[in-house]
Amino acid sequence: MALRTAKQYLDSLRDDRVVYYAGERIKDVVAHPDFGLRALENSRQYGHGADEDAATLALRTMTLPDGERIHRWLAPPRSREDLLKFVEMEETMPGDAHGAMAAGLTGLQILARKMDAKYGKSYTPRIDAYVDWFARNDLHGAFAMTDAKGDRSKPPSGQADPDLWLRVIERRKDGIVIRGAKTSVTSAALANELLVLPTHGMGSADADWSVACAVSANTPGVVMISNYAGAPWGERFRFDRPLSHSSFHHDATVIFNDVFVPNDRVFMDGEFEFTRELLGYFTTLHRTGVLIREPRGTKKLIGAAQLMARYNGLEGVGAIRGTIAEMIQTAQLLEALRYTALNRVQIVEGICVPDPVACNLAGLTVSGTRESYVTFLCELCGGPVLTAPSGLDLQNPETADMVKKYYVGKAGVGAEDRLRLVKYIYDLGASDASGWERAAGVTAAGSPGARRVAVGRGFDLEGCVKMVINELS
Ligand SMILES: Cc1cc2nc3c(=O)[nH]c(=O)nc-3n(C[C@H](O)[C@H](O)[C@H](O)COP(=O)(O)OP(=O)(O)OC[C@H]3O[C@@H](n4cnc5c(N)ncnc54)[C@H](O)[C@@H]3O)c2cc1C
Repeated sequence: MALRTAKQYLDSLRDDRVVYYAGERIKDVVAHPDFGLRALENSRQYGHGADEDAATLALRTMTLPDGERIHRWLAPPRSREDLLKFVEMEETMPGDAHGAMAAGLTGLQILARKMDAKYGKSYTPRIDAYVDWFARNDLHGAFAMTDAKGDRSKPPSGQADPDLWLRVIERRKDGIVIRGAKTSVTSAALANELLVLPTHGMGSADADWSVACAVSANTPGVVMISNYAGAPWGERFRFDRPLSHSSFHHDATVIFNDVFVPNDRVFMDGEFEFTRELLGYFTTLHRTGVLIREPRGTKKLIGAAQLMARYNGLEGVGAIRGTIAEMIQTAQLLEALRYTALNRVQIVEGICVPDPVACNLAGLTVSGTRESYVTFLCELCGGPVLTAPSGLDLQNPETADMVKKYYVGKAGVGAEDRLRLVKYIYDLGASDASGWERAAGVTAAGSPGARRVAVGRGFDLEGCVKMVINELS
């Protein structure tokens, strides 16, 4: 199949999938006023399909050895060049990121080879065929990993209700039946395919929960309940919410009510001892997301701080310069980590994996600094970050002149420019959307705790102790 167009992607979502949102079932996720916005944004990834302009095709697509052109986000990076191109593509893409889905498929391709070598299974041809089919049909995927979990101190097999972690409840000749729920699945209701992966490293008692498979979004038994994100404020508030006025993001709890999965879609069933390694590859590849957003995200905060200080005539104040200097150190550190992550790569089973320590350190650096930088921005704005008149009052002839008179900055800085920046900072640090960003930044690609574990993995702690013992002796 050729590259899909935006229309083909949107039409593919009208497939009788079961989606609930804000207390009711949505029959058509494309026509829905909130969901439709995100579907439309995603559809821009597809555009005119093979008739896109040459620059976009060069950025977003690649050619398979047999000449078929596919979207780059559907193919695992096989070389450092592939990885760099993937990162470059994701940096400019509207709508859903594809790093997690690519990471899941890639992690499974690596592990399939290892599981087959150990057990003589045939996961490798299955996952390779699935990845090929997925790419050639130009599908949109969501990864469904995070289990409901229940009592977090206990493994899946220790839960009062065994369904709290998704599990295999029946094995048939032609496939398996799964039951459970995956939470926080980004854009599940706007995907064609759901990739189910185990959340944690499993023990021997947890073989039934050690399952990875692919399920189409409209498979009987799949029910999606989306979080209520609320209608975005809309175009009218473009000035007041420059970052979020028309954006809509949704995550769904995906419930698998005894869903049959045919054998050719089952990529792990019971091989609990491989789950930890799978997670290692998955999280490393997934966390390249932070390299995609950063250091650019931190640089934007620096730009906003410097500009606000300039507008207010405070650019030369020592304390402000000191904090901006700290922010610059963080941005430079993130650049260095990005460089390390994308250069200290490993080729594992033919897949290019970025440096896990650098990826996870970048994530920890952002989650440990962003909050205080955003607070600093709010401080620089002063009260207007919350209290300034709206852009609508700038347009209203009855109030415009008064707002323009009293919201100027230093000489030469007009009220409109200054308020535009104040609203930008509001949307970064004080709006409803900024609260979402703040919480998402903490856990979206794994909690800081998980990242710390990843950073410490393989570190020679006892070697450090020995160094001191040697110095003492
Ligand atoms: C915006 C957003 C988008 C997301 N998108 C996706 C997606 O597309 N697909 C997907 O599968 N997931 C997704 N996630 C889920 C995300 O990966 C998880 O939120 C994250 O891994 C944490 O898991 P949890 O939410 O179940 O929290 P929990 O596991 O309940 O963790 C809560 C806290 O408790 C701590 N904790 C948990 N267990 C233990 C323990 N045994 N010992 C000590 N501390 C513990 C954790 O470190 C954490 O700080 C998304 C999350 C967000 C916020």
